[in-house]
Amino acid sequence: MRLTFDADVEEFRAEFAAFLDANLPPEADTVERSRSSAHIPAWARRWQRLLFDEGWLLPGNPPEFGGRNADLLQQFVHLEELARRGVYHSFNPQGLSIIAASLLSFGTDAQKHRWAVPILRAEITASVGMSEPGAGSDLASLRTRAVLDGDHFVLNGQKIWTSGAHDADIILAFVRTDPDAPKHRGISVLVVPTDSPGLTRRPFGTMLATTDQDFNEVFFDDVRVPAANLIGELNQGWAVANGSLGHERTMMWLSFATSLETIARNFHPRTEIGDQHYATLCMDGQAVRLLGSAAL
Ligand SMILES: Cc1cc2nc3c(=O)[nH]c(=O)nc-3n(C[C@H](O)[C@H](O)[C@H](O)COP(=O)(O)OP(=O)(O)OC[C@H]3O[C@@H](n4cnc5c(N)ncnc54)[C@H](O)[C@@H]3O)c2cc1C
Repeated sequence: MRLTFDADVEEFRAEFAAFLDANLPPEADTVERSRSSAHIPAWARRWQRLLFDEGWLLPGNPPEFGGRNADLLQQFVHLEELARRGVYHSFNPQGLSIIAASLLSFGTDAQKHRWAVPILRAEITASVGMSEPGAGSDLASLRTRAVLDGDHFVLNGQKIWTSGAHDADIILAFVRTDPDAPKHRGISVLVVPTDSPGLTRRPFGTMLATTDQDFNEVFFDDVRVPAANLIGELNQGWAVANGSLGHERTMMWLSFATSLETIARNFHPRTEIGDQHYATLCMDGQAVRLLGSAAL
């Protein structure tokens, strides 16, 4: 059994599926792997750019930002088709779903064209600079300081867990601009080029994979950032943070529902999980889809 949507949504799905069938890069061209969440191999840059140009990258966006003004259910089936085939639309996921999305929501027109469009077209990559030692779940405790000096901010402090920073061109950095305000109110957001003097990136592995380096410590020592790189209002960074993470979370569950179905499908013929368990897993996957789409 498989739940389907209204005919217009299924037509949209079929159109995207046909595009994928006709345009997915041949496997032989995709041998170069991504080494971090901000490193996009050349073939994947071409693939992401094609999706952007054809309005299939983020179909909910207007055409100038890689979409076709699709409604929520159309965006849902678009992600389903990608997840079902195990196809990524970008190898810089945080660039696409957090940073470009935040710039489109909170940036000026100039900022959208300077940073969001190049991220969406895979011309540059980006990392998120939120977490710090001592400011993880409690993000509002962040202490990296930015002081306005003429037409520049001067940054001092440290970020941690900054995925892909060593390969990124820019970091969306959450910084404290008013230390006297209540902690949620004194935060601002800056686009910081990673080649700025005084910025140091130190990648590190994990306990499970010491050579798989995606996380970074990022240090700011008197890093000067143009005031024009401020995203949104001064001291209103908390609203940007909530918007940024909302973008990431909205449809994250969908890939998990699809994974559940894929796992069930792949393992059933080869294992002894049994028809009863197989049916239960498939029903669970469908239930997640149904609940998720109903909540859109
Ligand atoms: C794969 C991965 C990629 C990441 N990439 C990035 C990135 O690109 N950029 C970035 O800025 N950050 C990134 N992070 C960091 C992530 O956002 C933080 O790990 C997260 O905010 C939690 O912070 P922490 O690790 O300091 O844990 P803590 O905040 O110290 O929390 C530790 C534990 O305590 C619990 N806890 C905390 N506060 C409370 C409370 N008040 N009540 C009850 N329980 C509590 C938490 O649930 C958790 O289980 C990444 C993390 C992961 C796992």
